[in-house]
Amino acid sequence: MARIVVAGSGSVGACIAYHLALLGARDVVLADCAEIASGSTGKAMGGVRQQFSSAAEVRLAQESISFFEKLGAFWFQQVGYLFLATTEAGLADLEERRELQVGLGVPVEQVDPRFVPGLQADDVLRAVFCATDGVADPPALTREVVRRAAELGVDVKERTDARELERDVLVIAAGAYSGDFGVDLPIRPLARQLLETEPLEGLPDDLPMVVEAESGFHFRRRDDCLRIAMADAVPRWGFEESVDESV
Ligand SMILES: Cc1cc2nc3c(=O)[nH]c(=O)nc-3n(C[C@H](O)[C@H](O)[C@H](O)COP(=O)(O)OP(=O)(O)OC[C@H]3O[C@@H](n4cnc5c(N)ncnc54)[C@H](O)[C@@H]3O)c2cc1C
Repeated sequence: MARIVVAGSGSVGACIAYHLALLGARDVVLADCAEIASGSTGKAMGGVRQQFSSAAEVRLAQESISFFEKLGAFWFQQVGYLFLATTEAGLADLEERRELQVGLGVPVEQVDPRFVPGLQADDVLRAVFCATDGVADPPALTREVVRRAAELGVDVKERTDARELERDVLVIAAGAYSGDFGVDLPIRPLARQLLETEPLEGLPDDLPMVVEAESGFHFRRRDDCLRIAMADAVPRWGFEESVDESV
């Protein structure tokens, strides 16, 4: 049987290796030149949603949600995603996306955003909510998927450059470094920033991920803190990881 090397043990490589093993592949190596979930996966917000704007993304996300649901509530908190529109243009965009999503079977509904305690919603023109979206802990979940993959026989090698391993098939799942494998892939690194508050009293256990549609400003609960993010005004393409305090 062919030897398959999966390069990169972020969320993508870990899930590929696990599913290859579930499908019966018996000679799978999951190699990471650093450690499990040490790339983007270890720094991510942890939002898992089906509310995307293209049919391909929505269908892929629906498959992901089924997978996350099977992992159970410990790994995936199905608190929903609430999108808010505060302008007419944002409202039209949100409605167009909702029609696409509902047409594909995603349970997105128009709601009164005041169901979220403490949410300042005076300027909100439209709010849509999908209760089956949710949040997870990306590095912890990835380590769990790797553990399950290893149980099924996947050979996990950390601090190993996948390019140096003998193989019949190479799966490039090296995230922002996927361009280092001599294949022209349309993948470029984009710096993102997160901010975590100090512990706050009174955050609801089931606080959804809340997203302002126009700006992309969003937040979720993480333990007793809020984790907040927003896209930079000018996208920061590249590997530079310094913190921009002005954001
Ligand atoms: C701040 C932030 C917030 C985000 N929020 C969300 C969110 O809410 N929801 C969402 O869905 N996505 C979010 N993302 C995006 C998400 O994190 C990434 O899409 C995802 O983690 C990518 O996973 P990956 O496995 O492709 O890459 P990575 O996690 O970067 O993993 C790639 C791995 O490849 C390894 N590697 C590199 N070169 C080699 C080599 N030659 N040999 C072996 N291994 C190699 C690296 O060490 C690394 O561990 C966010 C990202 C960031 C940075």
